[in-house]
Amino acid sequence: MSIFSGKRYAVLGLGKAGLPAALRLRELGAEVFVWDDDAASREAAAGFSVTRPSKVRGRLDAVVLSPGIPHKLPKPHDEAKWALGKGVPILTDAELLYQAVRGQGSRARFAGITGTNGKSTTTALLAHILDVAGVPNAAGANLGPAALSLPLLPDNGVYVLEMSSYMLERIVTLRFDAATMLNLSPDHLERHGDMAGYAAAKREIFARQDSTCTAVIGIDDTESRKMAAWLHDGPAQVVEISGDDIQEWHVKALPGRHNAQNASAATAMARALGVEWGAIAQGIASFPGLAHRQQEVALRDGVRFINDSKATNADAASRAMGCYMRFVWIAGGVAKSGGMDGLEPFFSRIEKAFLIGQDGEAFAHRLSEAGVAHEVVGTLERAVPAAFAAAGDCGVVLFSPAAASFDQFVNFEARGECFAALAQGEAE
Ligand code: ADP
Repeated sequence: MSIFSGKRYAVLGLGKAGLPAALRLRELGAEVFVWDDDAASREAAAGFSVTRPSKVRGRLDAVVLSPGIPHKLPKPHDEAKWALGKGVPILTDAELLYQAVRGQGSRARFAGITGTNGKSTTTALLAHILDVAGVPNAAGANLGPAALSLPLLPDNGVYVLEMSSYMLERIVTLRFDAATMLNLSPDHLERHGDMAGYAAAKREIFARQDSTCTAVIGIDDTESRKMAAWLHDGPAQVVEISGDDIQEWHVKALPGRHNAQNASAATAMARALGVEWGAIAQGIASFPGLAHRQQEVALRDGVRFINDSKATNADAASRAMGCYMRFVWIAGGVAKSGGMDGLEPFFSRIEKAFLIGQDGEAFAHRLSEAGVAHEVVGTLERAVPAAFAAAGDCGVVLFSPAAASFDQFVNFEARGECFAALAQGEAE
């Protein structure tokens, strides 16, 4: 297949998405140039023309920019600035997947999921429902695998793409037949300037939708409700979903009302894609859950160890905290703007908190003011045994850090695995 023959792309940022993008684009006939500021990453791309986009001779059709590299705020990467100045489009890999799928003549449909929290769960759940229903599907993008490593699907297939705000800023023709925006709370504001900028990026999930498309929108927070009002003026069929509406919700791998919101979203999208109710119900009931999201990783002496390492902001942590009446809490890392704001209603449920990471002291300060028992212990290695010792009465050690991991770990997965290993070590 050479649908991209004659095209010339520069891939900037050779991480999880960049390298697969370069490989696929080349396979599809394009001429591909690659660059990463990190020398080791450049070496991994042996076999490609390694050069900065601005140094490529002749025309470039687009720069495929890694979601982690800014082209606006807080400061555009020099090469992105160059591309903007030259009018070279800056794209994300999902856009090129869409072009590749259409270019190869497949009418496979696209489902897109965004929101501050719940994206991965909803993406994985929808893909699972489609599996149960026997619909060929491929899920990925932000959640991984990278968009451009997904296979070509037939006309009845569905791509289920988790879209971050960074990716949504870089789509141009991609249109989602079914799209969901789950919720909005302050996150990544350094990249989007303010809440309005962040919401504008998220709203792109609904770009180009027409009356044949379905727009699923959460209505459990103010910013999302504003977006719902805006959607009602547009052409797509709008489905409003709420987790707060649901009184009783007991699905083991999907605990809490927030997961009821995710399940509602997956249901609405599955319906829009033509899945029968029975397969949806069966899919929800048999969903195995995702690692690092309120995942029970050990049980010892009646104490459950819950790994919620993916809770990198306060809103996400509050959802997990709401699921347990009393718990020992392990938290801290690199706090988001707003820090622990929003967690106050759950302070009375904390038996004792053990704080780690860069902002552990700041968290301790807030807990002191509120009279919550706590200890700054610095690392997970110290926190886990201390939390276990303190958990005798309440039976739950909840690791829901309400902060990013990069001060002490490469990513939230490594942080969660460290917690799980320590918890299981305790369990021996
Ligand atoms: P994302 O991919 O958007 O980061 P995940 O599905 O990985 O979201 O969930 C991350 C964390 O966010 C979960 O551990 C949970 O604490 C919280 N969360 C999940 N779904 C929701 C939701 N719909 N609303 C609010 N918080 C949620």
